[in-house]
Amino acid sequence: MNNPFESAKKQLQIAADTAQLNLNQVERLMHPDRYIEVSIPVEMDDGSQRIFEGFRSQHNNTMGPYKGGIRYHQDVNLDEVRALSFWMSFKNAVINVPFGGGKGGIIVNPKELSETELEKLSRGYMRQMWRNFGPEIDVPAPDVNTNGTIMGWMRDEFEKLSGTIAPGVITGKAIEDGGSEGRTEATGFGGGYILREALEAGLISPPSQGGVAEGRGGLTIAIQGFGNVATYLSEYVAQHGFKIVALSDSKGGVYSSDGIDVSLAEQHKKISGSLKDLEGTSEITNEQLLELDVDVLVPAALENVFTAENAEKIKAKFILEMANGPTTPEADEIFAKNGVTVVPDILANSGGVCVSYFEWYQNMHNEKWSKEDALKKLDEHMVAAFKEVRDAQVKYNCTLRTAAYIVAANRILSKM
Ligand code: NAD
Repeated sequence: MNNPFESAKKQLQIAADTAQLNLNQVERLMHPDRYIEVSIPVEMDDGSQRIFEGFRSQHNNTMGPYKGGIRYHQDVNLDEVRALSFWMSFKNAVINVPFGGGKGGIIVNPKELSETELEKLSRGYMRQMWRNFGPEIDVPAPDVNTNGTIMGWMRDEFEKLSGTIAPGVITGKAIEDGGSEGRTEATGFGGGYILREALEAGLISPPSQGGVAEGRGGLTIAIQGFGNVATYLSEYVAQHGFKIVALSDSKGGVYSSDGIDVSLAEQHKKISGSLKDLEGTSEITNEQLLELDVDVLVPAALENVFTAENAEKIKAKFILEMANGPTTPEADEIFAKNGVTVVPDILANSGGVCVSYFEWYQNMHNEKWSKEDALKKLDEHMVAAFKEVRDAQVKYNCTLRTAAYIVAANRILSKM
């Protein structure tokens, strides 16, 4: 399996070589500032004790407090958390919010725990870690298998231990607990705004039918995943005239050359638990979805989706990386050789952390923005970031990924 931290470092090295960045400063960014490992004892419902392992990687705080999610997964490990904290530093710098990069995790399959055990584990993690967190130190958020409820327990524990009222210590909270309007939609819609800008910049080849001249009517799109990110991206692109021909989830994919109705797909998934047997579609595998001849391909589920093994088989000429780390450096080289344009994760999916910043800002200033305001400001951030990255791509004649790293690294290095 590809080591995500090695991939992350390689991506930065390419940017450093391309833009001749200061190598001592770049070397500093290759090493997270701090890595914290804790053990968390939990009394289980049957009276036994289990000890869980928890982590936090604080990559860099030049731009502001460390910022990044906490994931609960049985396979979470040092390299994964380090890579994810590294990507957060660059993502925050690309989208130009005053945060550094962090990421945390607990080795656990949360589905095996009762709600009481999950609460004890989450509070236990905060008890061990709280001195490293704070609204102006390190601000966690939900990630894989964590949610607003878990964040609420952690915030409560933090406030008890620190003796402060600190809504800004965590983002991704429920609206009534200080969360921001627009956060749920932010990552998917943010990806949609980038797609709109890429189209306007002429980065997406005119489709075989319809074409840019007729608007977006002819553009076909296939999306891997149908969770939070993919659902809101689907809603955005459907409203803006793209034709969604394929969607998938962990159980497999569905295809229709006539286009898939997103609201029907959402209803179907809610009722039956998967996309399987969605009316008017035929079944395809996740591998088949990735190899479809579409104008836009969107990985919105997992890491390491495009590798040296399958990159040559990808027919789409435009990829929008909504998942974190879906493309290995080897696949990136193949895509560049084959003329496939890839909008990198640190730009494409940065809408989520952008609205997390808005949440933190509202908490720190005791403000409450409407959804309309939050999404308008998100759009402005996404447009500005896209333009900067596109300009760097033209200036250095490089891929959008390398350009995004150059923009982010320049921002961090100039403040270091
Ligand atoms: P989610 O848990 O809501 O949805 C994940 C989706 O992926 C589900 O539909 C699931 O069925 C599908 N999936 C899981 N395993 C799969 C497999 N083997 N093949 C195909 N599909 C599979 O998660 P999400 O919040 O939508 O996040 C999706 C991706 O976007 C992740 O990589 C995440 O790190 C990234 N991301 C999310 C956010 C955010 O704000 N939620 C922000 C930035 C990046």
